[in-house]
Amino acid sequence: MGRVSYDYTGETVVVTGGSSGIGREIAVRFGDAGATVINGDVRERPKDRGEERPTREAIREAGGQAEFVETDVSDPSAIRTLVASAGEYGGVDVMVNNAGWFLESSLRDVSPEEFDRITSINAGGVFFGCQAAADDMIERGEPGAIVNTASISSTHAQKNQIPYDATKGAVRMITRGAALELADHDVRVNAVAPGHIATEFGSGAEKKKEAVAAGEVAKPVPIERAGTPEDVAGAVLFLASEDASYVTGELLYVDGGWQVY
Ligand code: NAD
Repeated sequence: MGRVSYDYTGETVVVTGGSSGIGREIAVRFGDAGATVINGDVRERPKDRGEERPTREAIREAGGQAEFVETDVSDPSAIRTLVASAGEYGGVDVMVNNAGWFLESSLRDVSPEEFDRITSINAGGVFFGCQAAADDMIERGEPGAIVNTASISSTHAQKNQIPYDATKGAVRMITRGAALELADHDVRVNAVAPGHIATEFGSGAEKKKEAVAAGEVAKPVPIERAGTPEDVAGAVLFLASEDASYVTGELLYVDGGWQVY
């Protein structure tokens, strides 16, 4: 099968949650494709097992250009600071609102504090990321692309995940609403919906791989393996690219077919 390569030379890409897992791979792939990448994360050190090098170093060692801005996406003013940092490189061309937090807890056990926290990170982080990027793109009069990390949880409920599922459902609707509002400004807004991806998120990479292989997930995964950050990153680079110039408001599942049943 063919391989696609992208050219993002001269473009500035902001990725939230780019220190680990899916966001890290997205950042590295954009860096390889020639973009200047700005990673906004609460921590610079990767969570990934066996991975010590921060994303910024990995991209620079490969010959690319990258920055790190310590950012908590639950704080809208921190997101503004992150997006403003792209000004040094001409402004943000692609915004990837990827940072997320997971909570496994039943309806009866979730505290108001936990509910507020997950809402402000998963839904607020994406909403204010779209807002800050849109302001930057519109004020400069430049086209742009926004890609949000949603989830299979955006459309499918799973036990003991109501706050997570609700916030990922919100990501889907923020994506659709922003796509409507920004189309006139030449800004496209799409989302990827990963399934079971082997990262340290939630139960961790190894447990996810074992659970998928043993069929111990709510439904079987037709492509019988856990996904990888690489699987998701390719979809993000496509949605941000000119090849997707007539695609907006879309939720692209990257889930090995999990949602098809
Ligand atoms: P990960 O834990 O490997 O990486 C998440 C990154 O986000 C970390 O570097 C973390 O420090 C950062 N982060 C967390 N809270 C933050 C905050 N408040 N502000 C800024 N950065 C913050 O997880 P991942 O699997 O790469 O997840 C990335 C995204 O993919 C999340 O939005 C998650 O909901 C989504 N997702 C993951 C899976 C999966 O199976 N791994 C499935 C569906 C969706």
